[in-house]
Amino acid sequence: MQIITSVSDMQAHADALRRAGKRIGFVPTMGFLHAGHLSLMGRARQENDVVVASIFVNPTQFGPKEDLDRYPRDAEGDRQKCESAGVDVLFTPAAAEMYPEKPVVFVAVEGISDILEGAIRPGHFRGVATVVAKLFNIVRPRTAYFGQKDFQQCAVIRLMVAGLNLDVEVVVLPTVREADGLAMSSRNSYLDRSQRQKATCLFRALSAGEELIKSGVREPDKIRQKMRAVLGREKGVEIDYAEIADADRLTPPETLGGRMVLLVAVRIGSTRLIDNLLILC
Ligand code: AMP
Repeated sequence: MQIITSVSDMQAHADALRRAGKRIGFVPTMGFLHAGHLSLMGRARQENDVVVASIFVNPTQFGPKEDLDRYPRDAEGDRQKCESAGVDVLFTPAAAEMYPEKPVVFVAVEGISDILEGAIRPGHFRGVATVVAKLFNIVRPRTAYFGQKDFQQCAVIRLMVAGLNLDVEVVVLPTVREADGLAMSSRNSYLDRSQRQKATCLFRALSAGEELIKSGVREPDKIRQKMRAVLGREKGVEIDYAEIADADRLTPPETLGGRMVLLVAVRIGSTRLIDNLLILC
């Protein structure tokens, strides 16, 4: 596996691969890799000639009071995991390499970036869209792989790709979960034993919402209330939102039908966790 840290080296390598007719699959990450990331790399390995993964904790998607400085890192462990997953090129630029100057150019995906996660984390999706656009221009992938775990992020990226006519296919893969349902996340490492126990409430809330829909309930408010009740039962869990939305636009539905998504976000101590479940009804 080759490790590249410079933008110009990565671009030159990607250009040479493209000229040789190679199909590049790309998995962007912030590192501290787990089985969720590895599932994306596994799929990329199956579908491409060359797999590029990136590890970059992108400062522009963190708010001033967020966890940029303490975001978990494990460079050597990540390197080994990428190697075992069949990654050919690991792109790990420093922040100063990606942003040599204070950035003045941003990609904004309007509307969808201001609701749900975007309402709680202003500027977050502007940072995400900008760094993903930059990474696409540096890595030049045919296909890029993302996790459904970050449902709204996937929607933002799809809209960006369509809106800017980017020549990249976006593939979204299912959320990989722990045995008790907790969605794998690098941020789970912040949780102590008792918080880890409580964190199962996200999946329990989503499952309770799904059950209600399956039992025939069609009023969005009843689904929201049910999810909030499950989350609210857990001491020390602060709810940011518990919503049901249209799966494409992420807007609240008047009545349920078609592809819907249940979305929850909570804070447990200083750790923010999100999860979601797609529902066809
Ligand atoms: P991150 O390192 O958290 O920025 O995530 C990098 C990529 O891995 C994103 O596309 C995430 O949606 C995806 N991802 C994170 N957690 C999971 C998971 N539990 N299952 C599947 N994909 C995931």
